[in-house]
Amino acid sequence: MSYERVTFLGLGLIASSMFWAMRRAGMRAHVTGYARSEQTRATAREIGLCDTVCDDLASAVREADLVVLCLPVGAMGAVMAEAAAHIKPGATVTDVGSVKRAVIEAMAPHIAPGVHFVPGHPLAGTEHSGPTAGFAELFDNRWCLLTPNGADADAVAQLSQYWQALGAEVEEMDPDHHDLVLAVTSHAPHLIAYTMVGVADDLHRVTNSEVINFSATGFRDFTRIAASDPTMWRDVFLTNKDATLEILGRFTEELFALQRAIRTGDGEMLHDYFKRTRAIRRGIIDAGQDTDAPDFGRKKS
Ligand code: NAP
Repeated sequence: MSYERVTFLGLGLIASSMFWAMRRAGMRAHVTGYARSEQTRATAREIGLCDTVCDDLASAVREADLVVLCLPVGAMGAVMAEAAAHIKPGATVTDVGSVKRAVIEAMAPHIAPGVHFVPGHPLAGTEHSGPTAGFAELFDNRWCLLTPNGADADAVAQLSQYWQALGAEVEEMDPDHHDLVLAVTSHAPHLIAYTMVGVADDLHRVTNSEVINFSATGFRDFTRIAASDPTMWRDVFLTNKDATLEILGRFTEELFALQRAIRTGDGEMLHDYFKRTRAIRRGIIDAGQDTDAPDFGRKKS
């Protein structure tokens, strides 16, 4: 069964992509949007993002069958606290936050009995943000992880069908396991990219503009990742602290091992290491999560 009324709280990249994907799928649900700033609401109205854009939170959620929080992780608890009393019994509340345990801890205490809470996280994004950044294809063949945490099975199944209609493949996961997996696959890599670009920026001051002018593809990929939204990523690191620190500890150990191999001229170690990592890249392409094309399949982003 599909939802009749869907509400997005927060109208940035993810909410706008979900809206356009709903329209592409031909879903007939009435879509309501709410964002805290007048400017975002005005832009949403201008570009036809949502059927109705509300100026207040309570009106936005009142009739919704599905409420989707598309906000930075650190804002979810406060927004839920304000919205909760206005959400009708039987409705489902979900979110798209990149961290799951902290979001559950922040949101669950506010959710009324009779309202289903099914946290979620689409593994799809770009470095762009805001209401004009979205596009219908963002979730195509990407995973959406749901961390139901004991939620009603019918509510979980309905949300799962919804995400599949948006183009995603859905899998359920334990919230803590989600946070560890994402620390490896997304959070630590982002921090490393931020660091590398910071290092290059320092060097840039030394070498004038050579770092920018002659930047090779490896560095350019880092700059794309390091252009991601500062608020979103600040919140990710503050709320997925333990898992990220665990992975960064392991990363540092591996880095030291490679550093030592370079210092001692251990070519065999370096070659074996790179052979192993190349096989992982092959596995990601074979699993359909990226392409072999020179632009890494990122034309749309
Ligand atoms: P975005 O484009 O930056 O949009 C964020 C929205 O949240 C905006 O409408 C903004 O309102 C609102 N907002 C920001 N701070 C707020 C606060 N303190 N209180 C109330 N509203 C606030 O963000 P996004 O990329 O869609 O990300 C939304 C969520 O999706 C995040 O939790 C992120 O972890 C998750 N996610 C992101 C990606 C990605 O690659 N971007 C991928 C997967 C999941 P105004 O416009 O009015 O300021």
